[in-house]
Amino acid sequence: MESKWLDKVGGFVGGQWIAAAPGCSFDVINPATGAVLARLPRMGAAETVAAIEAAQRSLQPDEPVLERHRWLEVIHDRLLAEKEAFARIITSENGKPLKEAVVEVEYAAGFLRFFAAQMHRLESEVLPDRMRNCTWTIHHRPAGVAGLIAPWNFPLAMMGKKVAAALAAGCGIVIKPARQTPLSMIALCRMAEQVGVPAGRLNVVVGQAGPIGETLCSHPSVRIISFTGSTEIGEWLATKSAPHLKRLALELGGNAPFIVFEDANLELAAGALMANKFRVAGQTCVCANRVLVHESIASAFIALVAERVRKLRVGDGLDPASDLGPLIDRAQYEKVAAHVRDALQRGAQRAAGQDPAPLTQDWGAFFPPTVLTGVTPDMLVCREETFGPVIAIATFASEAEAITTANDTCYGLAAYAFSQSRERLDRLAAYLQFGHIGVNTGTGPAPEAPFGGFKRSGFGREGGLDGLLEFCESQVVASA
Ligand code: NAP
Repeated sequence: MESKWLDKVGGFVGGQWIAAAPGCSFDVINPATGAVLARLPRMGAAETVAAIEAAQRSLQPDEPVLERHRWLEVIHDRLLAEKEAFARIITSENGKPLKEAVVEVEYAAGFLRFFAAQMHRLESEVLPDRMRNCTWTIHHRPAGVAGLIAPWNFPLAMMGKKVAAALAAGCGIVIKPARQTPLSMIALCRMAEQVGVPAGRLNVVVGQAGPIGETLCSHPSVRIISFTGSTEIGEWLATKSAPHLKRLALELGGNAPFIVFEDANLELAAGALMANKFRVAGQTCVCANRVLVHESIASAFIALVAERVRKLRVGDGLDPASDLGPLIDRAQYEKVAAHVRDALQRGAQRAAGQDPAPLTQDWGAFFPPTVLTGVTPDMLVCREETFGPVIAIATFASEAEAITTANDTCYGLAAYAFSQSRERLDRLAAYLQFGHIGVNTGTGPAPEAPFGGFKRSGFGREGGLDGLLEFCESQVVASA
């Protein structure tokens, strides 16, 4: 695709751009149109080793922290100045509406600014110890080379938040973007190159996920792997890296409950649900997967939501009229369709939406926004993450039942609750086993706050000081 930030497209290793070679490449496809946006090299283990070694070589133990601070600040400013150009890249490869893509660029830039502002907290601290007649100096050293792996739903922000923290901490970086959406990170690396980030500090490998992942797990120079994606791949990485004792940060799948109590402001809850659920066409890890509504207000709430869903316009994200873009690919489309079919077969009703059209191609997977009611815990829409524009509504009779149902999942990423009783909401947060809880809001994570999951949603945190310290090793010098 045409973009001044994609004048060089390919892998990026040790400051060199590596173009696709004949017979060993893959295409990046616009999911709304099927257009080929770029052809990239199918890199594997050998290129990953080269990237890791370049990242290792770029590390300098006495590097001035102020220099890294400058990179983050300048990239932040340029990214905001170029947000329209970056948003177009995101929309072209991911499909989300352009206005959402602009918000994604701002969100990604927020991590650069936040971690730049936190870098003073990495300064060494000296603790006098009179009892032992010595001092203790505590340093926060860069962990080493960081392998970063992220999915396609926020092509810039999911990886950008890892890059910002790893760069601030002083790590060498090997980026493995999702095969569907590598262009946003390629563009960001092009910007970093122009800003003067030294060759080898940031590397991008694209192509064969298995060999790339296996190499990151086993290479001795890689000290941390930060992964966002499915629980299955998170487990695979944990297994592969265990013999090598790598540090892991795993941001995995979710199955968020969205609880609406009988005393909730229903307009507020319906508006929050729409914004929370339909971002990226429902393909976000923090979006409501199970909507639990008190039985006394269920019909009023369903009517409010169904009316709004029927008005949604689905189309190419580059068309300003589109509220929702396509699903990322055929596999995602078929999974969402199977969830809806399963729910209807088991007795759910459809309050909005219609049968999805059979796909005749791998792209253009526009799924009709759907509201299902009468949903029960045995249905796939409750047991698994649907990752699509489907609102699945179940009812409950008491607060205790709502909490039990909400926690009845192996995941623990995000949960939401709506009520006008502050006392109830304060109590609820302690009972809900989720890392991110929205009360009277459907908002997701922010740079300032540590974000991550409980249970099989993973471990480690992104954002907040915790997110920066993930990429550091504490070192103590006792001095007599
Ligand atoms: P996925 O299949 O796990 O892929 C995610 C990333 O992992 C992609 O870059 C993929 O590369 C790569 N990958 C796949 N196999 C690998 C391997 N063997 N070694 C190394 N890397 C490998 O996830 P997805 O289905 O694309 O993304 C959706 C999932 O991500 C959902 O479950 C969602 O909840 C989760 N997610 C979680 C968060 C969070 O913050 N907790 C945020 C967003 C999404 P290829 O594309 O080349 O296969």
